[in-house]
Amino acid sequence: MSQLNDRISQFRQMTTENPDDDLGHFRLGQLLMEAGEYSEAITSFRRTLELSPEFSKAFQLLGTCLIQMGHPHEAIEILTEGWKIADERGDKFPRDEMSKLLKSLNAPIPHKQAESSSNEPNLPTGFVCQRPECFVGSRARQLEKPPFADAIGKRIHSEICSDCWNAWINGYSQNVVNDLRLDLSSEYGQEQYDHHMNLFFGFEDNNVTNSPKLEG
Ligand SMILES: [Zn+2]
Repeated sequence: MSQLNDRISQFRQMTTENPDDDLGHFRLGQLLMEAGEYSEAITSFRRTLELSPEFSKAFQLLGTCLIQMGHPHEAIEILTEGWKIADERGDKFPRDEMSKLLKSLNAPIPHKQAESSSNEPNLPTGFVCQRPECFVGSRARQLEKPPFADAIGKRIHSEICSDCWNAWINGYSQNVVNDLRLDLSSEYGQEQYDHHMNLFFGFEDNNVTNSPKLEG
């Protein structure tokens, strides 16, 4: 343990003397993680990314530290950004590690550009997703069937692509339930859930309601 502390001191000194040494900050962050000093490790990895914004492994470790410190939303942001950078750069290992972390947080995993373009050419599918924030564009695919039997389920089926649906059901809806502490067995909880789902899909205008907003 004292050896680890000695190395941490060494790297602290080194990064103080060479504040622009990205690898020095990265190594310091790794050692701090080893010692369980996640808060200080976060500072080191953030500095690494200021100096080297495409250092995908630093995103992975920063995300891990944020999870350890109990900041899942920030972790999802960092890991999603890092995942895209890793994918573009072909850093397969950190990318797949970040996929696992995102999955553990119930967050959607971005599209695998390299793989999807080889398997399925970017041909327009003919389906147009109506969600204002849809990120799939002309590759939008329709769900095979309505997710619910009621009118809203049919509307989702006819207007919302499968990626947006998955982003809601496998990711964002969990945040809604957790952040608002919704009890889905109550009528109020169910109403709030539907309300936020409608907002997510752009079925409802945020301005006309006065229900609680999500944090972060
Ligand atoms: Zn969509």
